[in-house]
Amino acid sequence: MTEKTMHIDGVWTRAGSAATRDIINPFDQGVIAVVSEGGREDARDAIDAARQAFDRGPWPRTPGAERGRALMRLAGLIERDAEELARMETLNTGKTLEESRWDMADIAGIFRYFAGLADKDGGEVIASPVPDSTSLVVREPVGVCGQISPWNYPLLQAAWKLAPALAAGCTVVMKPSEITPLTTIKVTELCVEAGIPDGVVNLVLGPGATVGAELAESPDVDLISFTGGIETGKTIMRAAAGNVKKVALELGGKNPNIVFDDADFETALDYLLNGVFFHAGQICSAGARVMLQDGIHDRMVEALRERMSRIRLGDGMVQGTRMGPLISAAHRAKVEDYIRIGREEGARLLLGGGRPSDPALARGFFVEPTLFTDCANDMRIVQEEVFGPVITVERFSTEEEALRNANSTIYGLSAGFWTRDPDRIRRMSAGLRFGTVWVNDFNVYFTQAPWGGHKQSGLGRELGRQGLEEYTE
Ligand code: NAD
Repeated sequence: MTEKTMHIDGVWTRAGSAATRDIINPFDQGVIAVVSEGGREDARDAIDAARQAFDRGPWPRTPGAERGRALMRLAGLIERDAEELARMETLNTGKTLEESRWDMADIAGIFRYFAGLADKDGGEVIASPVPDSTSLVVREPVGVCGQISPWNYPLLQAAWKLAPALAAGCTVVMKPSEITPLTTIKVTELCVEAGIPDGVVNLVLGPGATVGAELAESPDVDLISFTGGIETGKTIMRAAAGNVKKVALELGGKNPNIVFDDADFETALDYLLNGVFFHAGQICSAGARVMLQDGIHDRMVEALRERMSRIRLGDGMVQGTRMGPLISAAHRAKVEDYIRIGREEGARLLLGGGRPSDPALARGFFVEPTLFTDCANDMRIVQEEVFGPVITVERFSTEEEALRNANSTIYGLSAGFWTRDPDRIRRMSAGLRFGTVWVNDFNVYFTQAPWGGHKQSGLGRELGRQGLEEYTE
């Protein structure tokens, strides 16, 4: 296999140490690519290139409309290669090909959206209190941006960061998750083809603890944008303090999906399942914390059990597969540990909890769709992010109880609820302390609307106009 390399200052570059890493398909553990495994030195070279390109290169000085045209070209190239990208994403993450195709269409749209915004903010003229003087507010790019992305939506999460940074006139060093770098490498190639100048988009590959940490610590990086786990986010925030760089964090979530007795039962059921079983529950906004009101509790639990028992596990590349494997052996061990904890805490395991018995799935990192009932607010399996195909069900009686319990979490990424009562819709929408609140819906997001968390789910917003403002001073 030809080694896929990093991209530094317009040059495809192997790691200084010549180290490589095998990239694995989580469905069968087959090696699908070999990539360079960079270290701190490589990250420093990439930061230097981005610094030079920002301080002396054309990109920050290029009119927004022209930067927008380059992003439009990039969007077109992503559309041209969407099928190749989708297949690559599925092979590397295990998610279904259908999901990866949606991701790629979304990603092209993200580049088009920020391309369109690139020339829209002309700044502001301030009403000066002094005669014959002019006061202007001018929006300028932040500078060199480190962008660290996770393995669950490898290219989508990278695009949320790359598109607004480029639209604003910043230069970047991208660091994808070391286990899922393939689509980010491919899009870096497309950036070259789209005519984005050398040094503007740099790509480093390798572990978070070295390559990622270098980006977070470097005095030459002006902004660090990170999507990933909460503990890593805290480490990055501390590392960023060295030069008081701007910090944008998209961290985890534990997201309640609350169904009241008066809900549209069948639609709510569909979205309880949709809310969790995309990408085997490895979604920051997974509605894995299901809360059911007394009157529909038993019927909904039975319907969930029945529908979940029919979810077809398999190879994401095969038509008809509804759920693929988890990303790695280590992550499966973490999910299985939570299932053990849930049992010990006294939650009732109604379905799943183990690995599938089908020998065709034996080499994949699968966990069965798992349903716990009789859960309590203070259980670890309810409070902590499991990031797998596991639903916990809590029963509640009153709206006040549902709201109090839903808000009693360190997280605040997203929440949803189901009811036909307009007064309750108003009260619940206002009362839920989450960045996104879905009403009679779950797990939809729009490029045009900002996304981000309250509390420990993060800092700052991605997407929407606010997503662009993050990359400007
Ligand atoms: P992770 O924190 O382990 O890793 C994320 C990235 O950070 C990887 O690229 C990794 O190499 C890097 N990293 C690790 N240690 C680092 C360090 N010390 N310094 C700098 N970089 C470091 O997270 P993950 O397991 O890849 O992703 C899963 C997590 O991401 C979940 O908690 C999930 O909720 C979260 N997530 C959040 C959102 C959102 O929009 N809020 C979206 C997707 C995923």
